[in-house]
Amino acid sequence: MSTNILDTSIEYLKGVGPKRAAMLKKEIGVHTFGDLLQYYPFRYIDKSKIHTVSEIRPDLAYVQLKGTISNVRKLGKPRSQRLTAMLSDDTGSIELVWFKGIKWLEGKFRPNVEYVVFGKPSLFNNKYNIAHPEVELPDEDNMSLSQVLVGHYSETETLRTRGLSSRNISKLMKTLLLKVEGSIAETLSPDIIDKLSLLSKADALQNIHFPKNQELLRKAQARLKFEELFFIQLRLLKQKAGRQEDVEGHSFRKVGEYTNEFYKQHLSFELTNAQKKVIREIRADMGSGKQMNRLLQGDVGSGKTLVALMAMLIALDNDFQACMMAPTEILANQHYATISRMTEPMGLRVELLTGSTKAAKRKQIHEDLRSGELQIIIGTHALLEESVKFKNLGLSVIDEQHRFGVAQRARLYYKNIVPPHILVMTATPIPRTLAITLYGDLDFSVIDELPPGRKPVKTFHFFDSKRLRLFGFMKEQIAAGRQVYVVYPLIHESEKLDLKDLMDGYESISRAFPLPDYPISIVHGKLKQEAKDYEMNRFIKGETKIMVATTVIEVGVDIPNASVMVIENAERFGLSQLHQLRGRVGRGADQSYCILMSGNKLSEEAKVRLKTMVDTTDGFMIAETDLKLRGPGDMAGTQQSGIVDLKIANLLRDEKILKYARSLAQEILDNDPLLRSKENAILARTLQALNKYQPDWGAIS
Ligand code: ADP
Ligand code: MG
Repeated sequence: MSTNILDTSIEYLKGVGPKRAAMLKKEIGVHTFGDLLQYYPFRYIDKSKIHTVSEIRPDLAYVQLKGTISNVRKLGKPRSQRLTAMLSDDTGSIELVWFKGIKWLEGKFRPNVEYVVFGKPSLFNNKYNIAHPEVELPDEDNMSLSQVLVGHYSETETLRTRGLSSRNISKLMKTLLLKVEGSIAETLSPDIIDKLSLLSKADALQNIHFPKNQELLRKAQARLKFEELFFIQLRLLKQKAGRQEDVEGHSFRKVGEYTNEFYKQHLSFELTNAQKKVIREIRADMGSGKQMNRLLQGDVGSGKTLVALMAMLIALDNDFQACMMAPTEILANQHYATISRMTEPMGLRVELLTGSTKAAKRKQIHEDLRSGELQIIIGTHALLEESVKFKNLGLSVIDEQHRFGVAQRARLYYKNIVPPHILVMTATPIPRTLAITLYGDLDFSVIDELPPGRKPVKTFHFFDSKRLRLFGFMKEQIAAGRQVYVVYPLIHESEKLDLKDLMDGYESISRAFPLPDYPISIVHGKLKQEAKDYEMNRFIKGETKIMVATTVIEVGVDIPNASVMVIENAERFGLSQLHQLRGRVGRGADQSYCILMSGNKLSEEAKVRLKTMVDTTDGFMIAETDLKLRGPGDMAGTQQSGIVDLKIANLLRDEKILKYARSLAQEILDNDPLLRSKENAILARTLQALNKYQPDWGAIS
């Protein structure tokens, strides 16, 4: 039974009650005392700093002014009334304005009294004013007067207008901290607290909300950030250790004939050093007797397929079968084509299984998988079906990881009594800090080098007014034998509009590129799969010169002769999407181009995105910029995880703390894998409590 006071419903905090409780739950997810304690200020305001009116600039987030208040007037009709007043100091005056609470405020201001006024200045009709400033009335018993650093809580519009402004939240926090004083349990072991000279949990919470000074604020932040990151890492690493402990894996002891023959006789190019390194890592894992769970990251075109093939050959050398799953039929087709071509001289049985595999063929495949005659199977989700059974599956490769859900991945585990090794491949570069937070229980391999001789894609940004130049350029390229993609954005809210954009674009392209010289393919989400595949195949075969499409071609498609990527409304794409799209070209020997088309009006963020694309082809740099622009919550593949919903730590700024937290968690688990020792009991308890509150945690791996 839980008797922890922190579990008390927020409704019962003095000053809250049922109505406000409902609002707190809905608006900011605060249900309990404990939740509110973890609602940390996002900014601190130094109340010891007094600005002058003459210092006001538009970029100041807030100002604190001291002066007299005069000219208090009610303006407007009764229903849309506002109250205005002038605040004056030695350097000038500024208007204050209120739209609410007018009655209460009206008679409050006395002449010749100095007030302290606090708020955000904004420019209105070329004059500054402050809307709804906080005014410290001389007769008010004011907590912030004794408080130099005042925490500012993020307030939603609803909260603010219903009496739960940052200031009100601060008052509730004060009440709460008094109430729970003495019942805030420590969550870290004395060892760790000592070693890192951390504040106690209780002191940290006190000072994060009401810092006594800068130094204590800094220490409170350090303690809470460390704790947050530490427990995430402890959980992930414990899970990983647990799996290695419990889950026996197939031991691929030898590198045999298939691998050797392929490597010596059929590989037409030298592996890059990065590929060699990664293959060594995979080999060591698969030979260890423990089950492999490895994430292989490599930018588009870095040669992941070959690595996957080598890993599959090792499985075959040890008399196991291997499978490879791709998120779309087209991709599965492509992998199938590549892999059967490469392995053909060795006489391997490779088959393709997708939704459109005919019944008779499907039946044969099922049988041959069970008998073991079929060694490599490549496919889509169709592989996950119950009816797909293997004689002895040893390795599952999953391509383009972020398209598959966790649950689907897990289903591949159960295709053998001893689970197969799992190799997850992704081309979405994730900054390392994010990767160890999201996939900290997997091992990582990174291919950080492209095959030699690749010409980086040349990227240009054109405004729409340069369309004629664009068309001219496309014609030159087509005349030289190349093919061109033209991609339109897809915005989910309005499929109709999207389709209209696409069709308008298609029409204007058809006019500028008439038949018979310029056969055009068009692919979009409204087409049936068959029609899509048909159009795609015409383009793959070179029968059409231009492919007009929505983003359906984003993932994995490899057409070396298509060397121009035109992205329409490029300002509407996210960075990682732009990078993925650009990765569709630059796969052949020819110089490739990416042309970003946009309107003239661009937001600051859009400008940064387009400039980043023009400036670099480095996927990791692009991912870092993306993370900076958007924050980790929105990165591809992380949406469902919730795990990057950090309350205080920041994956970009707190990289050092994160690395330290991970290494300390590892050290502790190395000595005490199950956290059974007396010193670590407190950590085990905290972890258990966290798991209880975040049931999702267990499901992610
Ligand atoms: P991705 O990592 O995007 O899946 P692929 O595996 O499709 O990349 O490889 C892209 C292209 O590079 C393929 O045509 C492949 O044959 C080629 N390739 C892979 N490794 C090498 C290498 N070491 N040297 C030269 N070409 C390579
Ligand atoms: Mg690929």
